[in-house]
Amino acid sequence: MTPLLDPSKIHDIWLPFTERSKLFSPIPQENLIQGSAVKLNSNALELHDGRKIPFDFAVVATGTKSSLKSTAWTKSQGLQDAEELCAALKKASNIAIVGGGQVGVELAAKLCSELPNTHVDLLHRSSTLLSKMAGMNDAARKKILAVLQQFPNITIRLQDTIVNSDIPRKDISFERCLLHTQSGNQINADVTILTTGNIPNSKFVADGLGKSVLDQNGYVRTNPDGSVEGFPHIFSAGDISTLDSVKLAHQAVNQAEIVSKNISVLIEAGYFGQNDIQVGKLKLQKYSPAQKWLARVNLGQLGSVMKIWFLVIHSKK
Ligand SMILES: Cc1cc2nc3c(=O)[nH]c(=O)nc-3n(C[C@H](O)[C@H](O)[C@H](O)COP(=O)(O)OP(=O)(O)OC[C@H]3O[C@@H](n4cnc5c(N)ncnc54)[C@H](O)[C@@H]3O)c2cc1C
Repeated sequence: MTPLLDPSKIHDIWLPFTERSKLFSPIPQENLIQGSAVKLNSNALELHDGRKIPFDFAVVATGTKSSLKSTAWTKSQGLQDAEELCAALKKASNIAIVGGGQVGVELAAKLCSELPNTHVDLLHRSSTLLSKMAGMNDAARKKILAVLQQFPNITIRLQDTIVNSDIPRKDISFERCLLHTQSGNQINADVTILTTGNIPNSKFVADGLGKSVLDQNGYVRTNPDGSVEGFPHIFSAGDISTLDSVKLAHQAVNQAEIVSKNISVLIEAGYFGQNDIQVGKLKLQKYSPAQKWLARVNLGQLGSVMKIWFLVIHSKK
């Protein structure tokens, strides 16, 4: 969220595809393909422009969509989008955030901290904030609510959501609109941001391998060794996979390590998809989901709230 109000930071987090020396140095240039996957078949990946890439092994690591993730294809477009968002936020008198999960709560705290003259409305359907966040407990949720309420420029509306049918159904809308809430309130918002949850980028997987590879929420059903259920040569790691309910970069990196080691084991054993080596007999590493004893939520200038086992700690800045 750092670049939200300071787009110059985008320069540091966007690595152009061409700067491969920084990220992908061991991979030859001709093996780096920029494109959007539209269908994952069991032996070839189809791209948006009709190209087909055959493979012996594949790894699905397409993450999730969310309102604060850029969908730009180039650094210049990413910068332009960030500048547009930053300008709209700085100009706004009232910002509505719909969804009080971790992204909504941290975003509200950041905006309240850095834009003290802007009013922020945070709406959440459930009776407690962070109702679905892994590792949370009621004491931590209560503490976070109490700390957030210390911001003079926030209104937190629990068990409420917007009911308009006329507002643009975009993740972020810069159009000034009158929002009607379920409980009968009205909010004049200059910017409306939907933080109602992440949507897995998995349609292209189901389109090729069948809907049964996805769970009820659209995540790729993944065995503890990282392979996709029913496909020992296709792996899945990071936010898109069911390996862990905790969706954080650290977990994604651990999963990537296990997946790359397991693919090496399969290659060394001579397994290439269709031959008759029994994968079950190979010694593949297994991922253990993150312990949920620790959870942390950043609350801008009011510090952060951490839950460690049953202890709730508010560390002030
Ligand atoms: C606002 C916010 C704050 C966060 N803060 C933290 C934090 O402080 N600490 C932390 O550890 N984690 C944080 N996270 C979570 C962290 O960003 C994710 O856990 C991590 O990025 C997951 O990595 P990934 O590689 O699985 O997916 P992603 O990082 O989402 O990468 C997936 C990539 O696949 C691309 N892609 C998607 N579909 C296709 C397709 N069809 N074809 C080709 N490419 C495709 C996407 O464009 C993207 O580049 C935060 C997330 C959000 C949204």
